[in-house]
Amino acid sequence: QGSLVCVGPGMVLGAHMSERCRNHISQADVVFSSCHPVIEQWISTMNPDVRSLQGLYGKDKDRGQTYAEMQAALIQAVRDGCRVVGVFYGHPGVFAQVPHAAIQQAREEGFEAWMEPGISADACLYADMGIDPGAFGCQSFETSQFMFYKRAIDPTAYLILWQLGHAGDLSMTPRQTGPEQRTVLMNMLLEYYAPDHNIAIYESPFLPTQRPKIDWFPLQELPDADVSLISTLVVPPGKKLTPNHAIVKQLKSISGA
Ligand code: SAM
Repeated sequence: QGSLVCVGPGMVLGAHMSERCRNHISQADVVFSSCHPVIEQWISTMNPDVRSLQGLYGKDKDRGQTYAEMQAALIQAVRDGCRVVGVFYGHPGVFAQVPHAAIQQAREEGFEAWMEPGISADACLYADMGIDPGAFGCQSFETSQFMFYKRAIDPTAYLILWQLGHAGDLSMTPRQTGPEQRTVLMNMLLEYYAPDHNIAIYESPFLPTQRPKIDWFPLQELPDADVSLISTLVVPPGKKLTPNHAIVKQLKSISGA
């Protein structure tokens, strides 16, 4: 009977993989992987049948099509009766459509399917940048979705924008967008933050010998920022919390204070 488990090796080679993740990989009949090439090489030492899904991306190919093909590859192997492991870098369920969709489809077809957590880019970001998402609250959006739909930001909390490299990409290809799209994003953010509000681009390393990249600059310089496909944008709170006196009064009357 086939089964599917989606696991994440974390971000840093040799440093983040859980015992469970490693066991699943070594015991699988077939392992499909969508990770940094260096991580894929490492995973290949744990199982004789590791197949990279990265070749399914194409320069002008719709990313939705690539994701559908990845899902189909996982599901076909499950239907063939294999114990299938899908390895997706970081946490397999964080800003990753294929693992969620494949698990749902496998379950609908009557197979056992589940996910094991991994260390995601934002988990590294909190550690490397010294940010506690509980200090002021923290909002996470996929950058293009944030741009394509009318969303409200709470500027008293942190804002994390994922996939900055694809900001405003209407083509849905793996290509990066540029300063024009980031100017549109900057203007959206200027509705909430001052032009000189300091924001940062964060990039976690893949190798234990590398340092994280943390570039701080004022919001008005976002169009010209040094952005890559692994950049995550961090916008600290731009406004102070406003006390809710009415609610505190209500709570005081309940507690008799
Ligand atoms: N599943 C991944 C995780 O657990 O972090 C996220 C995958 S998502 C498709 C890709 C986005 O994650 C990037 O555009 C970026 O926002 C973020 N990301 C990926 N690698 C990163 C890195 N090395 N450092 C910082 N952010 C990264």
